[in-house]
Amino acid sequence: MVQAQLMQERIRQTLLVVDDRPDNLESMEALLDGGDWLLRCVDSGEAALQCLLEEDVGLVLLDVQMPHMDGFEVARLMRGNPRTRFTPIIFVSAIAQSEDAVLKGYARGAVDFMLKPFDPKVLRRKIHALLEHERHRHELLQLTRQLDGARAFNASVLDNAAEGIMVVGEDGLIRFANPTMAQMLCCSVAELQGSAMLTHLLAPHSDGEWQQSEFYRHWQRNQSYRLHDASLRTRGGECVPVALSCSPLPGEQRAMVVLALDMSVVRNLHAQLESLAVTDALTGLLNRRGFQQALEAAIARTERSGQGLAVLYLDLDGFKRINDSLGHDTGDLLLRRVAEQLKACLRTYDALARMGGDEFIAIFDSLGHPEDAARVAEKLIEQVSVRQSLNGIEVTVGASVGIACYPECGQTVDGLLRAADMAMYEAKRAGRQQYRFFSPEMNGRARSRLMLEESMRSAIEQEDFFLVYQPQIHLDSGRLRGFEALLRWQHPVAGTVAPNVFIPLLEETRLINRLGDWIFRKGIEQRIGMSQYFADDLVLSLNVSPVQFGMPQLVDDLQRILEQQQLNPAQLEVEVTEGALMQDLETTREQLRQLRLLGVKIAIDDFGTGYSSLAYLRHFELDTLKIDRLFIANMLDSPRDAAVVSTIIDLGRNLGLEVIAEGVETLAQRDWLVEHRCPIMQGFLVAPGLAAADAQRFPAQLDWEALPLRSKPAH
Ligand code: C2E
Ligand code: CA
Ligand code: CA
Repeated sequence: MVQAQLMQERIRQTLLVVDDRPDNLESMEALLDGGDWLLRCVDSGEAALQCLLEEDVGLVLLDVQMPHMDGFEVARLMRGNPRTRFTPIIFVSAIAQSEDAVLKGYARGAVDFMLKPFDPKVLRRKIHALLEHERHRHELLQLTRQLDGARAFNASVLDNAAEGIMVVGEDGLIRFANPTMAQMLCCSVAELQGSAMLTHLLAPHSDGEWQQSEFYRHWQRNQSYRLHDASLRTRGGECVPVALSCSPLPGEQRAMVVLALDMSVVRNLHAQLESLAVTDALTGLLNRRGFQQALEAAIARTERSGQGLAVLYLDLDGFKRINDSLGHDTGDLLLRRVAEQLKACLRTYDALARMGGDEFIAIFDSLGHPEDAARVAEKLIEQVSVRQSLNGIEVTVGASVGIACYPECGQTVDGLLRAADMAMYEAKRAGRQQYRFFSPEMNGRARSRLMLEESMRSAIEQEDFFLVYQPQIHLDSGRLRGFEALLRWQHPVAGTVAPNVFIPLLEETRLINRLGDWIFRKGIEQRIGMSQYFADDLVLSLNVSPVQFGMPQLVDDLQRILEQQQLNPAQLEVEVTEGALMQDLETTREQLRQLRLLGVKIAIDDFGTGYSSLAYLRHFELDTLKIDRLFIANMLDSPRDAAVVSTIIDLGRNLGLEVIAEGVETLAQRDWLVEHRCPIMQGFLVAPGLAAADAQRFPAQLDWEALPLRSKPAH
């Protein structure tokens, strides 16, 4: 493009001839016609200046002697104007000039003098040469302008780039740095120039000789080098995280260009994200992931220091009740409050995490003795258990704490966590508001529990569970009242596992909720299967565990299954233990009310073993009392137990409740019960739990005489 422009200018080059005498002009015109230029002839100095303003003139042939304005004056004015300052002038004169005049002419900017008459050939050559010269000057001017433009452009790119840019020579010294680079290092560009690049980096990238550095090695191999995690050291000694990219410049430069990208914002963001990922949004404590990282780090530290390490697992007692009754906002408020209280008990460097729900965990580093952990546990329990006001409502929660020490109770994060969790359960079992250390026997139990839990999960999937049915008999007539469904687990290796072993586990692991649904479904299905063999009032009793009883959707679930299978709710009885009723008075009352509304009967299981059995009778509407097996087993020998049994029988009669004596094994026991007018019995004397098929064949009316007499039958 530049070339095309130059070509055009070659065509446009104008030769201006100035002479006041028309004949001179004419002869000049004739002489110069047909040349490689555009000829313009004017007859005065003024006209010449006018033409010079309007056109690009390559060369002026200027007559010296002219009226008004002579050639010298024209030349002087031309030189005063930037546009024509360098336009070449040849003075033409008819008379020989004095040396003075000639010198004056040159001083005014003439490039040559010609005396008339002159040799046209010489004149044309001269003109040619001068125009050529002028063209070159023009081209040069243009190139210079372009170069200046390009340089200014490059400079503005470098000056305005947001990245720091340096050129570093093969000697490791900075040859060039842009303002951003200087800004990043808090110094001036001049200070940077000539300094060694490595002195501006932080370890490890600043270590060693330049020639051994990766920058130099890559440059030598003519390769680019990128460093994502470098840090610059500002003049004030501060650290600026940067990403560096270094690329070799073309060979003869013997240098590299280094770009530095400020990563402060990105790295801050990273740090923020990381901290978000490890903190619990509600309390600001660590979350499960954060806890894991903290414990890993603490274990590593303890390995080195040889000091003690303990993990405290804290679970709130009674949180669920508050959360359910006062709403989640209040629950959240309580959790935040507790988090604050716990924090206040700990040293600033102890890690504290919320593991979800109402479970908290603290890590004690550099512990002197395990007793220190116990002391803290006591403090934590005490702190949390104060009465507090939430949105104007007074509440009290408690806390149970399990403690596991490293490395005795577990060597890994998971191991320690499990141990502390176990110990916490132990504390809860022992009656809450306590702490417990994890002990070796707990360890053994933990292992078998784990195995059991694992096989229970697969048992649910493979349906290794089944129900057996134990008959309940009216003592006066021998008529069948109904069956209690009892759960059995047929373990592929261990054989039949008793419910006292696995039901508590199912409860702890909450697997009972999954299995509970199955029990309802299966029991009701098999009760329907029995319909054709028995009267309509045959009752099916289903056991409901405390956890199941505490589930808000219990009634809905039951109703759905009853409707699906079309069983009359009156044919169903739900057995609840005193333990289940103990949870929370209001919720329990509501749950029982809903169940009765549904139309199912309610029995209290193991009646008489709890602390406030009589209170339940006052608060709750019930249908049936089941006298605990232990009273029956002992009543013939112990007058106290006998008194309890007969009292319960009287109580039931007076309150219009059915009473069932459980665990009747002998005829003597039965006779005693008949004598004391107990209405219903259940026990091995009649039958243990029977498989569904056997239960169907059970007589609707029992012939006592036909019963094989057993004093203590095998289970
Ligand atoms: P429970 O509800 O008190 O059940 C009665 C227990 O006494 C049953 O033990 C039964 O086999 C046993 N039994 C019955 N008659 C006699 C007897 O004459 N002598 C003796 N020594 N024992 C007798 P099992 O089946 O081992 O159940 C134990 C506990 O497991 C039950 O106590 C109940 O609390 C729980 N359970 C059983 N099945 C289920 C179930 O399907 N769901 C729930 N949630 N819990 C269940
Ligand atoms: Ca029962
Ligand atoms: Ca019972």
